[in-house]
Amino acid sequence: MLTLFPEMFPGPLGFSLAGRALEEERWALETVDIRGFARDKHRSVDDTPAGGGAGMVMRADVLAAAIDAVHGPSDERPLIYLSPRGKPLDQARVRSLAEGSGAVLLCGRFEGIDQRVIEARGLEEVSLGDFVLSGGEPAALALLDAVIRLLPGVMGKEASGEEESFETGLLEYPHYTRPPVFEGREIPEILTSGHHGRIAEWRRQEAEKLTRERRPDLWEKYLKASRHRD
Ligand code: SAH
Repeated sequence: MLTLFPEMFPGPLGFSLAGRALEEERWALETVDIRGFARDKHRSVDDTPAGGGAGMVMRADVLAAAIDAVHGPSDERPLIYLSPRGKPLDQARVRSLAEGSGAVLLCGRFEGIDQRVIEARGLEEVSLGDFVLSGGEPAALALLDAVIRLLPGVMGKEASGEEESFETGLLEYPHYTRPPVFEGREIPEILTSGHHGRIAEWRRQEAEKLTRERRPDLWEKYLKASRHRD
């Protein structure tokens, strides 16, 4: 993790599922303070934007030195720059990262980083979504969280990962638990019927309905894929 704020890690990933997995050494994280690669006496990592305008830009030379200290030419781990201009992160990319041998993540700050280091080091730009954070760290934590829960032995029951939102191409069906009546609302009868086949069918219908209503983009993809399967 290349960052100006190494103290932000592991942060929330030190708790719950990810925290236990960290203790069990199912994953590990090394933070690298980008400021350690600044060369001038002020240890500056940023400067004013060429062409003018507000804010500061992270320097290409400092970032390249930080990257090169942890990622040599024969290193096959992906080099990811968290960036609102990147390809939106999805469960398929999360899964491929979980199956891979790790990654080097670069967190930007200020207005972002000099374009030349993106090109010179072939950084893969990955976005958390269409909104702007003040830094890459929360995005990196979210990406890691999504990857870690897929690592072998991290989630209690393997199956609980498989039916979730996006894994099937659909949003997930609604969940219910005790009490049987909450403020006058009952659990859908079918779920207490014990008919496993009918429950599975109900869940599939609910998942399809939710996806159709909330995410027409996913629904279109799902339809295309199922036409392909037939
Ligand atoms: N001026 C930039 C935003 C910079 S925000 C622009 O308009 O595109 C500062 C840093 O926060 C970025 O360098 C990036 O690392 C991080 N960041 C902001 N929004 C993000 C998002 N949606 N996904 C991933 N990283 C993001």
